[in-house]
Amino acid sequence: MSSKNILTDTFGRKHNYLRISLTERCNLRCTYCMPAEGIQLSPKESIMSYEEVYTIAKEFVHHGVTKIRLTGGEPLIRKDAALILEKLASLPVELAITTNGVNVDRFINTFKDLGIQNINVSLDSLNEEKFRHITRRNYFKKVHENIFKLIDHGFHVKLNCVLMKDFNEDEIIDFIRLSENHLIHTQFIEFMPFDGNKWNLDKLVSYDALMERVYHEFSKEQVLRIADQPNDTSKNYQVKGYKGTFAIISSVTNPFCDSCNRIRLTANGQIKNCLFSSTESDLLTPLRQGKSITPIIQKTVQAKFKSRGGMDTLEKLKDPTLHSKNRSMITIGG
Ligand code: SF4
Repeated sequence: MSSKNILTDTFGRKHNYLRISLTERCNLRCTYCMPAEGIQLSPKESIMSYEEVYTIAKEFVHHGVTKIRLTGGEPLIRKDAALILEKLASLPVELAITTNGVNVDRFINTFKDLGIQNINVSLDSLNEEKFRHITRRNYFKKVHENIFKLIDHGFHVKLNCVLMKDFNEDEIIDFIRLSENHLIHTQFIEFMPFDGNKWNLDKLVSYDALMERVYHEFSKEQVLRIADQPNDTSKNYQVKGYKGTFAIISSVTNPFCDSCNRIRLTANGQIKNCLFSSTESDLLTPLRQGKSITPIIQKTVQAKFKSRGGMDTLEKLKDPTLHSKNRSMITIGG
């Protein structure tokens, strides 16, 4: 198998998008991501060093990865985050970040120097009290301020908003209205089951429920459906005359696995072939032993299920004995 096919799975999907979780640590405690009791952090020595992040990423780029997104926990709280950005920016890839926005202002110049444009900021409420409730921290003003700082500096800003019933469902239109005068893109995300996040279907705001609210507020003529790009995870829309857009990532009710191009690397050097896979393979130990990691990457990609790590039906996804085998979101990085 040629080196360029190592990342193509048995369904013909080419995995050219690597998501790297840089840390299991975070300065927020979002209830749908971090179990209330916190998590057992991996031992410090089992976390990838910046050289190891670079070496593994370089291997993936050699096999065809063209986009790398850095996630966490919160990637920007890693002390050597700027060094990692610099190293990875030397690779022929598009580099993107997903951050909770608390410290992102400190990296604006670094991003500019390295040509990093795409910044996703997690924000689940425009209401300070609700923000405090969901993140268990008091950074609303800082995050809100930083989002507009990024826009003012010309970055392509997407807001990741996890929708939960009876929590922020009533803010859907407020988020969409943000895009009237601002070049901002809100991605509404269906609440997904991960270890420790007390998920159940009753808490889900589905794609249909979201669009029902949208068409209650705007006429069908006012809401334009934006054509999907290859590998798109979201269904994108724009209200006529608005500067920005909104979208829905519907992994629960409308999974988009047919065109999946994503593979994940955890902070402790494990490769996951799917966000929902309950299995993973260790790249870090063989790397530290000077062994080739290519066969492990290949085997992991070949073992990928068609959809949602094998939970291809809602019944399976709802089954806690299946979805709880996975990690908590904080250690996957979305
Ligand atoms: S659920 Fe898994 S297979 Fe489906 S799009 Fe997400 S990562 Fe890809």
